[in-house]
Amino acid sequence: MRKNESPWLHQLQRKRQPVNISSHTKADIAVVGAGIAGVLTSYYILKQTTKNVVLIDADLAGHGASGHNAGQLTTYFERPLADIATEFGVDMACSGQVEIDTTWSILDRLVEDVGLATPIYQFTGYAGMTELKQLLVHLADNLVRHNGGIPIERMLIAKEYEHLHSIPALYSHLYELASQETILNLLETDNTQYIAVLAAKKGATNSAKICEELIVYMTQLFADRFSIFEYTGVTDIDLYSDEVVLRTQVKHTSDTYNISCHKVVLCTNGFEQFNIVNHVGTDINTRFHHQVEGVVNYMSAYLDQEEEDPIAISYFSKDTPSGTDEETRTGEQYFYITRRPHIHDGVEMGLISTGGPEKKLPEGETYNRSDLCEEWAEKRIDTFLRNNYKKHKNDIVEYDFCWHGLLGYTNTGLRMVGAEPLHERLLYNLGCNGIGIMPSLYGATKIADILSGKTFEPSIFDPRMQ
Ligand SMILES: Cc1cc2nc3c(=O)[nH]c(=O)nc-3n(C[C@H](O)[C@H](O)[C@H](O)COP(=O)(O)OP(=O)(O)OC[C@H]3O[C@@H](n4cnc5c(N)ncnc54)[C@H](O)[C@@H]3O)c2cc1C
Repeated sequence: MRKNESPWLHQLQRKRQPVNISSHTKADIAVVGAGIAGVLTSYYILKQTTKNVVLIDADLAGHGASGHNAGQLTTYFERPLADIATEFGVDMACSGQVEIDTTWSILDRLVEDVGLATPIYQFTGYAGMTELKQLLVHLADNLVRHNGGIPIERMLIAKEYEHLHSIPALYSHLYELASQETILNLLETDNTQYIAVLAAKKGATNSAKICEELIVYMTQLFADRFSIFEYTGVTDIDLYSDEVVLRTQVKHTSDTYNISCHKVVLCTNGFEQFNIVNHVGTDINTRFHHQVEGVVNYMSAYLDQEEEDPIAISYFSKDTPSGTDEETRTGEQYFYITRRPHIHDGVEMGLISTGGPEKKLPEGETYNRSDLCEEWAEKRIDTFLRNNYKKHKNDIVEYDFCWHGLLGYTNTGLRMVGAEPLHERLLYNLGCNGIGIMPSLYGATKIADILSGKTFEPSIFDPRMQ
């Protein structure tokens, strides 16, 4: 079995030496977790307020999910919008969608303001469907969009599709008919099982590299208000009426130090190795730990000299798993490809990365980043590519990278952004739910707004609603 190594961390070429905490420290705001969520949250707090920020990570910045993802920029929810509308109402579901969609312009502004050099590709991406039930889920989402007054996602259904007559008439204004050949071309597949496609704005980047660039930027531009401690794990979060005390432990020495701050923002994704003690009210710890569930996701990638135009395609296939894969596997039918130009060891070529296989992390079990890749996951990705991606080579493909990462799922299947209702000094921007980069960006600006004193109506991301 091979080691867990993503192309994003391979590309990082980080020159900064990690600094871990070495004395008791004070700050206005402590941000726990230096993945894309924590780094962006720190950036917007520094930009929008005069507060000083200490950013803390148990490991190296950008080496969590932000260094082990697919790097797709997308703004849909992993949970169907219609489902969200059933729980929160059409208006609140659509407002949530609009809020996440606005991150495209926030991203453009960020690139401009910081002069980000990490490539960010933007394009139209596609999601292919093979079964009526998949179509109906996405049509129901489009109906919610339509009823909520926000743009629908473009959906093409094959005019040759044998079950066209089974699509309810109430959806007739929510899709277009096209030849199956058009659909297969958009999905870059010869697999005639695909009978429909959704098109939406997507992008691709290296979120670990963005983390590193932004940290260097913040240490230069906000030198007097920003510090970062790595290899510094937070073990306890003590919430008092007038302050928060974080107990930290340095990874290699086990030395312990406290950070006293006015407020703390948890950007810890699905990691949960800390206790929250509310000294002035109801227990938060138990609820928090039951609210975030970890899922491990597996990916493989290969470099290609010829194919490098950026694209992101998801496939809801009919493939059934074969062999004796782990029983805990979930989501066998969903795979996603991202292709982009990629500089590998100084040479520009194409990179094709594919994800899909995943397994739930049993409650109480700790995810270990240094675990090796899983062979069953690599095989499933290869089989998927052979059966679905027409540009895949027919001979044996050598995968240059395999990797895995942890996703944090909240009970609502939505990112949690805002202040803890039981203690306003504790805030969250976490729970990636599979799609985390753009929601992290949204959450970061919202946390900075909250810390600037702005108030908001409840939203689907609000901890008060979850
Ligand atoms: C295989 C895979 C594919 C994915 N594909 C995509 C994709 O294509 N598009 C997309 O948008 N999203 C994707 N995601 C999700 C995305 O990577 C995350 O949502 C995103 O990176 C969010 O980052 P984060 O900062 O919340 O979490 P992370 O990057 O995981 O950062 C959390 C940080 O918190 C630190 N931490 C945790 N506990 C403590 C503690 N007690 N003390 C100190 N530090 C602590 C960790 O060390 C870590 O660095 C994918 C994820 C995986 C695993």
